[in-house]
Amino acid sequence: MEKLTAVRRSFISPFVQEKDFDFTGGYCFEKNGSAFLLNPDVGSSILLDRDHLEEIKNKKISDDLQFKLIQRGFMKVPGSPQCTDEESILPRFFIIDLTQACNFRCTYCFRHLDETPRTISNETLQSIIDFIADYCKKTNQREIHIQPWGGEPLIAWKKILHIHDDLQEKGIKAVLTIESNAGLITPRVAKEAYERDIRIGVSIDGLPEIHNLQRKLANGKDSFEKMRQGMQNLRDAGYGTRHGIITVLTRNTLPYLEEFLEYFAIDLKIDRFKLNIVKDSPVMKDKGLCLSNAEIIDFQKRLLKKLIELNKRGHSIIELNVFDKLQNLLIRNKGNICISRGCLGGKKMIAFDMDGRIFPCDITDYKEEAVGSVNDGEELIPLLEKAHHKTDFFAKKESENCASCPWWFFCKGGCTTAIKYKKGKVEGVDELECLSNRSLYPELIRMFLEEHELVKILTKNKLEIA
Ligand code: SF4
Ligand code: SF4
Repeated sequence: MEKLTAVRRSFISPFVQEKDFDFTGGYCFEKNGSAFLLNPDVGSSILLDRDHLEEIKNKKISDDLQFKLIQRGFMKVPGSPQCTDEESILPRFFIIDLTQACNFRCTYCFRHLDETPRTISNETLQSIIDFIADYCKKTNQREIHIQPWGGEPLIAWKKILHIHDDLQEKGIKAVLTIESNAGLITPRVAKEAYERDIRIGVSIDGLPEIHNLQRKLANGKDSFEKMRQGMQNLRDAGYGTRHGIITVLTRNTLPYLEEFLEYFAIDLKIDRFKLNIVKDSPVMKDKGLCLSNAEIIDFQKRLLKKLIELNKRGHSIIELNVFDKLQNLLIRNKGNICISRGCLGGKKMIAFDMDGRIFPCDITDYKEEAVGSVNDGEELIPLLEKAHHKTDFFAKKESENCASCPWWFFCKGGCTTAIKYKKGKVEGVDELECLSNRSLYPELIRMFLEEHELVKILTKNKLEIA
């Protein structure tokens, strides 16, 4: 793969074309006469040919281009709508911590599984459901997303069904998303989940041998076959191969990246998956599983290269972090509700712990980050508004590089929870996300400029560069 050095990066400063017609400025990535222009303040972008780029550089923008630049947030004229950086506080994604119990013992898990595991009481769960329903009515929301969380959430399957039924009775459609180790997905659970249109992502750590090494059953035995049977039950129930896959990449799995992507695409016939790099935390038992900075950078390039190769060979497979970042760059939508515009914890997403406390994200191990409780009798939005001025979670995250970073709008210092788990406080930036952004975004832009037809296959036809 050609290196980014072949793409020239510069910054075009703001200027005034004529009275009241302001060009906002932006990062310019150029290659072979084409350019990708990115506005780091609002995340908008535009692809330009040589002539149009020259118009901007010469500060003589034609009417035709001016119109496009206004549309894409690069020019401001009086009365035209403006792209903004503001995100209102209006949660629509709710994580509910149902249980600490788990039937697996994964090496990188940060739950305290040696303690006696708890599961939420029916009374507390009902208070949370009522609180959500009341909030939805007051904010006029008819459809929301709920992620039952654990431990292994399927241990509390009946409680999950109750959440779904009760909200439906209250006139709210809850789209449920579950990440599961699949060990408890029986044919009955799979059928019920399919009938309710519950989205299930199965955790699998690459090739069977490595999966067994990293993901043991609670009794110490290998878990791959158990996971595979659960996955098969999903497929038989109607999901086909369209259930999700989540893989945690560690130093154990990294050397086999290309092999397990082949395995996913060819043996398991998976058409989409999410590959998350293992996050460091004080309770992780094996620190040797974390990737070095050089490995993270190298991984992003290898991942993209392998995805392209598999697709060119006719195996239609996408990775969802890459997909989200492509959407960020090209259409600025919130493909990923938690981090397409920096961390949206406490704005678009909140979490509840098993005592009914409310958190800005699944950071329930840090009780001081609670913004309130469903039992306080207070409403959600005022609680969150107050918390934005008070708790550590909302502290600004930045490093000395952020001020001149093209990816600022999408990153804003990364995942707050990751920083908190790693450092015990919110300080600096999420180094993992920072490195991932700084290595993957340039590769994606290189792709736009050199092989733009690949955008279509890496987004399953959702996006296309004409
Ligand atoms: S803390 Fe991390 S996981 Fe939570 S909303 Fe923010 S970015 Fe997403
Ligand atoms: S954390 Fe890194 S990638 Fe994110 S805005 Fe700052 S410098 Fe850019």
